[in-house]
Amino acid sequence: MFNSLSDRLQDTFDKLRGKGRLTEDDINLAMREIRMALLEADVNFRVVKQFVGRCKEKCMASEVLDSLTPSQNVVRIVLDELTQLLGSTESKLVLAQNRTPNVIMMVGLQGSGKTTASAKLAYLLKSQGHSPLLAACDTHRPAAADQLATLGGEIGVSVFRGDGKDAVKVASGAIQEAVDHLNDIVIVDTAGRLQIDEEMMQEAVAIKQAVKPDQILMVVDAMTGQDIVNVVTEFANRVDFDGVIMSKLDGDARGGGALSVREVTGKPIKFVSMGEKPDSLEVFHPDRMAKRILG
Ligand code: GDP
Repeated sequence: MFNSLSDRLQDTFDKLRGKGRLTEDDINLAMREIRMALLEADVNFRVVKQFVGRCKEKCMASEVLDSLTPSQNVVRIVLDELTQLLGSTESKLVLAQNRTPNVIMMVGLQGSGKTTASAKLAYLLKSQGHSPLLAACDTHRPAAADQLATLGGEIGVSVFRGDGKDAVKVASGAIQEAVDHLNDIVIVDTAGRLQIDEEMMQEAVAIKQAVKPDQILMVVDAMTGQDIVNVVTEFANRVDFDGVIMSKLDGDARGGGALSVREVTGKPIKFVSMGEKPDSLEVFHPDRMAKRILG
């Protein structure tokens, strides 16, 4: 992920480093290259425009151009802006102190990695001393509940399946089950579709109204390109969510979607998923990711 973007940006910075003093033309050329590199990485056009605009304004400042190390300053400005683009600070999962069980609802398209991420999140929370319960509310895809049950078995977390038919009832039933069995967190895995569809949205809203989640996390496949923008915007408008789990960051996609999502929705990326194993969910650190991209 991001390999080709990293290479392109490093080329641009190498050229700047070779120059010593920088003119406005040098900055203009570098900004044009950065713009191309981001567009080729499939970053949303509007995001690219705003990002490059911010970088350019800062780089053109006389204290940067006239400094002893202008190219280093340019790299630092791009790094800072990239960190901002990704969210600037790490964004923790906030659990409500005054409600047991806490309810975390997972939303997203089918195949985005929702079921896998639900199990990984349960594993992470369990390792932190919590006692999570997984609720199998994807009642549309018959294999989803089985998949969750298998994953739950692997990580030693109970899975509530209810009648396996009515997603809202399963979600509500899971809360009662958690109360009865002293689980302090319920993770609700909901149904997705291959594309946004009205029935899916209505069901997600109905589950939300029934269980009043403390956190709604949207699972977003990092392999999705530009289309990610429409998908996250639609979910933000219809269901709303508190943060993003970016899945499949171990893949070799260009990464533009991952870079666009924060700026487009204003919602933080809270976790990244880097593989299929239960322990491959990590808290997202924007600064580390930005440094990795700039190499
Ligand atoms: P759902 O339909 O949203 O519930 O998606 P699933 O959880 O079933 O995931 C779809 C596919 O993506 C499965 O084959 C998962 O094993 C795979 N997957 C999920 N997360 C990751 C990840 O972070 N990295 C990789 N490489 N594969 C993943």
